[in-house]
Amino acid sequence: MSFQLPPEAAAWRDRARHFADQELRPFEIHAEMNEGRIPPEDRAAHERAAIAMGLPLMDVPESHGGLALPVLTQVAVTEQLGRITNALGWCYGEAQGWMFEACSEDQIARYVLPLTRGEAYFCYAISEENAGSDPSAIATTAERQGDHYLITGEKWHVTSYNHATTVIVQAKLEDGNHCLFFCPAGRPGLSVKRTPAYSHTYDHHHPILQFDNARIPGRDRIGAEGDGMGFTHSWFRRERLMIAARCCGAMARLIEEATEFAKTRIVSGEAIVNYQMIQAMLADSVTDLHAARLITYEAAAAHDRGEDIKSLHGRCSIAKLFASEAAWRVADRAVQIFGGRGYMRENVAERFLRELRADRIWEGTSEIQRLIVARSLAKRGLAGTIGL
Ligand SMILES: Cc1cc2nc3c(=O)[nH]c(=O)nc-3n(C[C@H](O)[C@H](O)[C@H](O)COP(=O)(O)OP(=O)(O)OC[C@H]3O[C@@H](n4cnc5c(N)ncnc54)[C@H](O)[C@@H]3O)c2cc1C
Repeated sequence: MSFQLPPEAAAWRDRARHFADQELRPFEIHAEMNEGRIPPEDRAAHERAAIAMGLPLMDVPESHGGLALPVLTQVAVTEQLGRITNALGWCYGEAQGWMFEACSEDQIARYVLPLTRGEAYFCYAISEENAGSDPSAIATTAERQGDHYLITGEKWHVTSYNHATTVIVQAKLEDGNHCLFFCPAGRPGLSVKRTPAYSHTYDHHHPILQFDNARIPGRDRIGAEGDGMGFTHSWFRRERLMIAARCCGAMARLIEEATEFAKTRIVSGEAIVNYQMIQAMLADSVTDLHAARLITYEAAAAHDRGEDIKSLHGRCSIAKLFASEAAWRVADRAVQIFGGRGYMRENVAERFLRELRADRIWEGTSEIQRLIVARSLAKRGLAGTIGL
């Protein structure tokens, strides 16, 4: 199977590649050496460029002024951003298609559309100390009081809270059903308990949040009571596919840089690219990338064909599982090819090795993706899982 991107998708890919390589990439080492930060005027310029390109509108329906690009095109764009550290690639807010199905028109106007203008940023508070792989085990509660809810509980690893204007928080209702709520950052009753340090160097922190009777008006509940897990699954599908896309971009960059280095690095009078053990690492990496890209593009194309949602859920898991595990292998090989240089923080392989490790954990670990795929196989058979 070969994926010749349609001309419009290829044009988007090329614009995104230019943005990633020409505008973001020059700041990578500065960001790495400065806790993920770059000068605010440069950060603002990146956001302006992303908005001007239409990146925040990619998944927004046309009825709301969006571009509603095919998922395959969105994957091709996201793949290019994956060539660069997330410290720089996460430079704009992203309104996702499922939000327009889940949210009221009032919520779309107040919360979702401002994302597309650089006026709002979301973060997601689902995981807890004792509920990560199994979100159904969350202990955070939403107690209904008249036309309000009181949210109480602790949320872990809340990515980007330090930049967020709004938290999407998942809580359990009194009847045990789950619900998502919009909670403006800094609302009374919401505080940062602790900001742990993580392996990667991002200015996007992952704090532990404390909700202590945070008061949320009923109009900020997303969907009906009990809709929470369904929307969380929509979010997971999207994120898993886009993680797979970013991993493909990271692999491409690593292979290009490791190959270039191997061609110029002379050891014992010979360029190391001519040594068969180095060649094997490069060949295995290209094979990993090629397979991951085909799986990811095909999962995206399945969305555009409108395939059954349960089958799409499994395909997104397959894409994330394969691409994140493959990217980790490719980054490890790239470090090896660079030798001692590959252990220096200014080196792309060292940085990606740390960054890509999280892709095997967040939005569901590799073990959880395997469970999803195996369950799909048992329920829907091979044809219902990956097609004939
Ligand atoms: C950098 C980072 C950012 C994150 N950002 C966010 C965020 O913004 N919002 C948010 O809500 N969460 C976020 N998370 C949380 C992330 O989604 C969870 O860490 C992840 O789902 C795993 O949950 P856990 O850490 O509790 O691990 P656990 O669930 O405790 O799992 C521990 C180990 O057991 C394995 N395991 C669990 N169940 C099974 C099983 N049934 N079979 C086999 N093995 C199993 C897991 O695969 C893992 O290896 C983030 C995490 C990280 C690292």
